[in-house]
Amino acid sequence: MTKDSFIIVTVDGGAASGKSSTSKILSERLNLLYVNTGSHYRSLTWALLQAGVSAENERVVADYLKSIPIGRTVEGKEARITLESHTLGNEIRSEAVNNAVSVFAAIPAVRQFLLTHQRSYQNLAREAGFFGLIMEGRDIGSVIFPEADFRFFMYADESERARRRLMEGQVDSIQKRDQMDKQRKTAPLTCPEGAIRIDTTQLSLDTVADKMTKVIQSSKKSKPRSQKS
Ligand code: C5P
Repeated sequence: MTKDSFIIVTVDGGAASGKSSTSKILSERLNLLYVNTGSHYRSLTWALLQAGVSAENERVVADYLKSIPIGRTVEGKEARITLESHTLGNEIRSEAVNNAVSVFAAIPAVRQFLLTHQRSYQNLAREAGFFGLIMEGRDIGSVIFPEADFRFFMYADESERARRRLMEGQVDSIQKRDQMDKQRKTAPLTCPEGAIRIDTTQLSLDTVADKMTKVIQSSKKSKPRSQKS
């Protein structure tokens, strides 16, 4: 794989389905810029909660978003969103954010606000010399990059996902979040048509990453995107 055969890989799935850890492994193995879009929604949610903005009034939310200067920063192989030139830390994994994030993420103005931002990571990855982009979330293969080169969808049993969160020491009602994410009208959590589904319940992270690597390497492109017929 080279800069000239730039690829876009999308990884979608519910909470604790194994997206982040395996995407990070792939990013290291294949020199792909890694982007976790859950952290985008979490960062905005944290800012909205801090400002006391209620999710009930979409217009107020939309107006508030206009006032937040967002940017991007690359650290190692990961690109992150910045709010007022700063990245946020563990506060975006707090119980308050866990409880509110899916409510804000269901608001069309919030999703619209992040759409252009998220698509812009493609150019960032190219400019920074990566061999591609790997982005994970809920609507990446369906809405953000529906024409991605490789689209994966991960899932795992409820009890295993709850166990994973517990091991991380997080208080997170993943079932409730998944329910809201699946039921919202705009860009719901769904397996994009044609995506490769992986049940991660019984698999180690390395085994999942191996499966994904195999898929990518077995159909890796030999021609630059612009020359594809
Ligand atoms: O991935 P993570 O569990 O950190 O995502 C937190 C929340 O952000 C999700 O439950 C969902 O409500 C929202 N999200 C989203 N679309 C994405 C990524 C995350 O709606 N692409």
